[in-house]
Amino acid sequence: MLPHLLLAPPAAAGLAEPFPGSPPRLQLPVELLVPGASAVAIATLGLVALLFWARDRSRTDLLLYTLLASGLATFLVLGLRSAPSGDSPAAAALGLLLPALAWLLLVRFLDLPLRRGRLSLLALPAVALPFVVALPSARALAAPMEAVALVVFGGAALLDLVRLHRPDAALLFAATAVLLLAALFDAAAAKGVLLPGERLPPLLGPAFLLFTALLLVAVADQGRRLVEKATIDALTGLPNRATFLERARRELDRAQRNGSSVALAMLDVDHFKRFNDRYGHPAGDRVLKDAGRAVASAVRGIDLAGRYGGEELVLLLVDVDAEAALAAVERVRAAIAEVRLPHVPDAVTASAGVALHHGAFDRCGVADLIRRADAALYRSKAEGRDRTTLETRGPERPTSPAEVRYR
Ligand code: GH3
Ligand code: MG
Ligand code: MG
Repeated sequence: MLPHLLLAPPAAAGLAEPFPGSPPRLQLPVELLVPGASAVAIATLGLVALLFWARDRSRTDLLLYTLLASGLATFLVLGLRSAPSGDSPAAAALGLLLPALAWLLLVRFLDLPLRRGRLSLLALPAVALPFVVALPSARALAAPMEAVALVVFGGAALLDLVRLHRPDAALLFAATAVLLLAALFDAAAAKGVLLPGERLPPLLGPAFLLFTALLLVAVADQGRRLVEKATIDALTGLPNRATFLERARRELDRAQRNGSSVALAMLDVDHFKRFNDRYGHPAGDRVLKDAGRAVASAVRGIDLAGRYGGEELVLLLVDVDAEAALAAVERVRAAIAEVRLPHVPDAVTASAGVALHHGAFDRCGVADLIRRADAALYRSKAEGRDRTTLETRGPERPTSPAEVRYR
């Protein structure tokens, strides 16, 4: 990760030579091993940036990707060519920039807010860069400056991490730290600085494998998080409208295939505007949050509850007749009415409307069922709220699966 250090002459430690007396084994020449592994590390960071860009098409990611890709190209062309001298301007510039770029990628990967104070850290490599590139005498200071950049950006990442309390973030940070340390150690060992006289196997290769494995774990965790974000409503913890509709569609198809019945219920909290006005929106949010939890535990495992919108919840009850559906909705309404906030004397009530779907002959879709449940909800509101209304059905329509069978 620190090309300036990594491109140091490999001669001192003689890592490529086999141990005295040990059988000769296949080894990469050391002058290729460390810079090669660094090139792979840069390419990995570039690939991560490219993946971000492909996902969001954001200009920042494109800039990051371009920087890393052009950095890698310069590193390979100029850096490797001047490897023995170890003081190429390209390598020194990359050594300064990489900690900052790795930090920006980490911030991006973990969706952290980029505050202005943090962004000003980028002034450090930006100011040092022209000197290191233009003045050979300044290049002697490149290694200490790289170390400072590492400490500054590593520290910034660590601070963000402590605030986050997220295991995937900790994993990724640890992996990056191990990789950087292994690179430093190998570079120092190649220079004969660390543990003189001892022959230790190069650490960067295994560290890079570990980094890649942990990066994959973190990516998978991030993916799971994104899926959850897209399907679950953050406030109530219930499935959001799109997820509910998709699952309800599947249940309806199943009911039509099996000839079983389902019920759809729309619930709306009564006078919620008034509640918000009296106790404030945060209290209203708290009620919705607790109501979401109460509703989730009041329905059976096979039923489906979701947040339809604002303070409207929706239920899909599987294999029920009118009586069972009404009982289930009453149970849910009672759970909502039990929600209490500290220092708030009022409880909230909810009104509900229920529509029944007979899989044996009903061919209506979810949208139609919602419209019917909504009409019934409207009647609950009109008739005084805090109640459940079952949709009115025409005389030709049976009201329970039993009647369907024996008609
Ligand atoms: P009604 O009994 O007729 O339903 O009366 P209402 O005041 O509940 O009327 P309506 O359903 O039209 O108003 C919904 C209110 O719910 C408006 C809005 O202030 C509140 N609300 C919707 N979503 C949220 C939310 O996420 N948090 C909070 N705190 N309030 C919300
Ligand atoms: Mg409403
Ligand atoms: Mg309401």
